[in-house]
Amino acid sequence: MHIVVLGAGVIGVTTAYYLSELGHEVTIIDQSQEVASGASGGNGGQLSYSFTDAMASPALLSKMPRIMAGLDPAFHVCPAINPQYLHWSLAFLGQCTSRNHRENTTAILKLALKSRQLMTELRERTGFDFNWRRAGKLVLQGTGAAMSEARETCALKRQHGCDARVISIEEAKEIEPAVAKLSNNYAGAVYSESDEVGDTLAFSTQLAQWLQTNRNTNVSLGTSVRKLVVRQGKLAAVETDQGSLQPDAVVVCLGALSNRLLDPLGIKTNIYPMRGYSVTLPSLHTSNTVSITDLNSKTVFSRLGDSVRIAGFADFVGYRTGKDTDRVRTLLQTAQATAPAIADYTSKDIAEWGGFRPMTPDSRPLLGPSMIKGVHLNTGHGMLGWTLACVSGHDVAQGIQA
Ligand SMILES: Cc1cc2nc3c(=O)[nH]c(=O)nc-3n(C[C@H](O)[C@H](O)[C@H](O)COP(=O)(O)OP(=O)(O)OC[C@H]3O[C@@H](n4cnc5c(N)ncnc54)[C@H](O)[C@@H]3O)c2cc1C
Repeated sequence: MHIVVLGAGVIGVTTAYYLSELGHEVTIIDQSQEVASGASGGNGGQLSYSFTDAMASPALLSKMPRIMAGLDPAFHVCPAINPQYLHWSLAFLGQCTSRNHRENTTAILKLALKSRQLMTELRERTGFDFNWRRAGKLVLQGTGAAMSEARETCALKRQHGCDARVISIEEAKEIEPAVAKLSNNYAGAVYSESDEVGDTLAFSTQLAQWLQTNRNTNVSLGTSVRKLVVRQGKLAAVETDQGSLQPDAVVVCLGALSNRLLDPLGIKTNIYPMRGYSVTLPSLHTSNTVSITDLNSKTVFSRLGDSVRIAGFADFVGYRTGKDTDRVRTLLQTAQATAPAIADYTSKDIAEWGGFRPMTPDSRPLLGPSMIKGVHLNTGHGMLGWTLACVSGHDVAQGIQA
């Protein structure tokens, strides 16, 4: 079959890989001139196979008044109300029960554990260099209440073969000495030894090149998809600004922009953009090697080769990017106050970045066939698209039949 993959983010290129494994002819289309120019470009880099906790939770619900009042610097909610945001927010609030949180977290965990296995196979097959390491991950918990919740969640996850365990802050300092230099107080941590880290941009770029060289795959950058033409409930054509294509099927991997193409077809995805930011700085001898997530400041610290990537924040500002400079500055200040010795903040060589996480209300991605024959979805990966890329691409590719 000839299959067109819409979007050359990490989800698109990984989907193309698994489609090509099955012998399909693949065309990847992206409006940008570069691979992974959207949310995949500067993300936290964490292959977070154990920390799959859905965003909607009773704990977040209890913090909502503080967030809505603008008192939590990790969140920024723009007061402009639009129907898409209202619709998403109501569905999100409905997911904030203990039961939904548990079910969503478990469903994502199962995907993530399969993704880890698939990533190992893909790495061994291709030999890419993307600063991959089995770094392990520490999630630092601020309060006793957070520790109790973490104990429950870890017990649940361990039933599914996940190695996450609750440890004391002293143990965390032994595992990663950089924790001893953090300025916040912590009640303890969750440690998952098998979690990994890697540069999504380097991975995606190399995979796109590899597919063009080794497989029947064409990558068409600088090509904007305008619409999908449907006749009698079936995909008829893909219209782009460079002309029209008539593939046997498409896979929509457009991240936070997926709705724009799918809404006119009546495919309701309820994806809302949640903007986040990162800065990448040179490392120091005091930098971390184990990935650290500080739940107090909603910030992650990942070591990628000679650099430290600091990422975080959750902004609901529609598709606007006008506050990026301010938000990146706040991220940098927060990180420096929390972890003054973790990276070289004096460097002139600090890369700043922002991206839209494609959030679904339940944090679960949308995978598989849509209601229109020939139109398949692989989108809505929210905070975990890098982690879930392999399993999503693999499972969606397997589900496409002639
Ligand atoms: C601050 C931050 C930190 C994060 N940290 C992590 C992390 O540590 N671990 C993790 O697992 N995940 C993380 N994520 C989430 C992860 O980055 C995303 O889930 C993932 O990148 C989504 O990939 P994607 O391919 O679906 O979307 P994107 O990378 O956004 O790709 C979509 C592509 O579609 C293209 N496109 C859109 N519309 C059109 C059109 N009409 N025509 C042609 N092309 C189009 C865009 O140009 C873009 O290249 C983070 C995200 C952010 C923002």
